[in-house]
Amino acid sequence: MKMLISIFPTAVRVIAVWLLACYSIQAPAQAYPTQPVMIIVPFAAGGPTDFIARKLALELTAAIGQPVIVVNHGGIGGTVGARKAADAYPDGYTLFLHHIGMATAPALYRNLGFDPQKDFEPIGLIVDSPMVLLSTPKLAIGEPKKFANYVRTNQAKLSMAYAGVGSASHLCGMLLASVLKVDLFSVPYTGSALALADVEQGRADLLCDQTTSALKSIREGRTLPYGVTATQRLETMPEIPTTSEAGMPGLRLSVWHGLYAPKYTSGRVIDAISRALQAAVASPAFVSAMLQVGAVPIAPRAATPQALRTHLAEQTATWKPIIAKFGQFAD
Ligand code: ASP
Repeated sequence: MKMLISIFPTAVRVIAVWLLACYSIQAPAQAYPTQPVMIIVPFAAGGPTDFIARKLALELTAAIGQPVIVVNHGGIGGTVGARKAADAYPDGYTLFLHHIGMATAPALYRNLGFDPQKDFEPIGLIVDSPMVLLSTPKLAIGEPKKFANYVRTNQAKLSMAYAGVGSASHLCGMLLASVLKVDLFSVPYTGSALALADVEQGRADLLCDQTTSALKSIREGRTLPYGVTATQRLETMPEIPTTSEAGMPGLRLSVWHGLYAPKYTSGRVIDAISRALQAAVASPAFVSAMLQVGAVPIAPRAATPQALRTHLAEQTATWKPIIAKFGQFAD
């Protein structure tokens, strides 16, 4: 049945799920989970989204008593992994972790191939993360206040790495371009781990990325920071100014993350994972790991299906007109 479903994803899937539902009405409810659970991350391993997924997987493993394994399907700003997750068999053994891109992709792609609000069952919000603007150490920009002017003056020579159209780094790059009124040459990657590696080596010049993996590179002097996209400085690295302090007041962005299952996953499974997620986001080990990388933990009541459903709908509505103003489409 799994093979059939992947060949005829839509029609067969609906019939299969209907049969499954009829069967489960008569059959006694089986324990869940009885085997490992996979979380699809739509970006390359080693990046910020992957970092959160792997920390979360440890907590979920402890909570549900089965291994939770992260699988990376990077490409095209997170849309490749999202499509794969939307088409997965809805038995609770494939979950999906994505960020703000779930709300921005519908405005960027006219033919997205999935509907973030209709093709997934929300499980809950996970954590928020600010972003940080950084450059290769090879650029002699100097103090953060000089960044805006340097980029305006040298825009024709500079390249900006990002994780594809629909990624958070893309969104931040669009905001940067609009705040500074510049046009930068963009270099796409399947995830920001790869983008960051190239910026560290000087093969690309700039990157705006979640603090969740960028701070390590900054601490080790492999990249130089110019501003965090938050209203306040990070407690964990207060020496980095906010983007407002660095002369870019409109450059604010908080990247929220959510956990989903494919549409038609049963309510019983969603409840079980959501309860595990609520325990995970409150776990001292998870909270402390997030704080160390500049992320903002959330309250367990936000790690619920209703909270994520509402947030996704609100964020989709918020970003649509903003992206329309940028006038950019990916397809
Ligand atoms: N941080 C990336 C983004 O720009 C993706 C990643 O986690 O690799 O969306």
